[in-house]
Amino acid sequence: MKLLIMGPPGAGKGTQAKILAEKFNLVHLSTGDILRKEIDKASKTGLKAQTYMNAGNLVPDEVLLEMMNSTLTELKNQGVILDGFPRTIPQAVGLSKIFQSLSQAIDGIINIEVDKDVLIKRLVERAKNSGRADDTEEVIINRQNVYSELTAPLIEFYQSDIINIDGDGSIEKVTERILKRIH
Ligand code: AMP
Repeated sequence: MKLLIMGPPGAGKGTQAKILAEKFNLVHLSTGDILRKEIDKASKTGLKAQTYMNAGNLVPDEVLLEMMNSTLTELKNQGVILDGFPRTIPQAVGLSKIFQSLSQAIDGIINIEVDKDVLIKRLVERAKNSGRADDTEEVIINRQNVYSELTAPLIEFYQSDIINIDGDGSIEKVTERILKRIH
């Protein structure tokens, strides 16, 4: 099974992706986590990504597409849940080419919806303990703007394939809503 989980920063997609990965035995692929590991290793990809990430901007599409092409090819025979990718239209186009070349397709696209005010509040709260360099208020606001400008158009791109989920409420409640829709 190939699942995709989308939503603005702070919507809880990482948390839900982890729960779904465990439940359905999927590999959880968070591009944010993968990139943070690359930065820790000071790899070529990490060095390219760092400045963009610290400012809350998107890492260039080519970097992501190359990284995800090799990862998805390696994991060809396993179920995956993609968390944080694609984040732009060119990435979505690239992703469908990757799946086509592997003779695979996306089985479900979950979009978690949360009001902007709630998101900013959640992210400012998370920032107190996260230790993430991109968790300052200024960067949080920039990440929301980047989402609206570059990632939100994916909702139109995927249209009727999207399963919209209300992301307001407890983690358990949101999981319950997702499970009801994907079963
Ligand atoms: P996240 O952990 O998903 O919030 O991602 C943290 C940061 O990693 C983002 O603000 C971007 O700088 C970068 N990033 C993660 N996924 C992508 C992607 N698909 N395209 C471009 N940049 C990404």
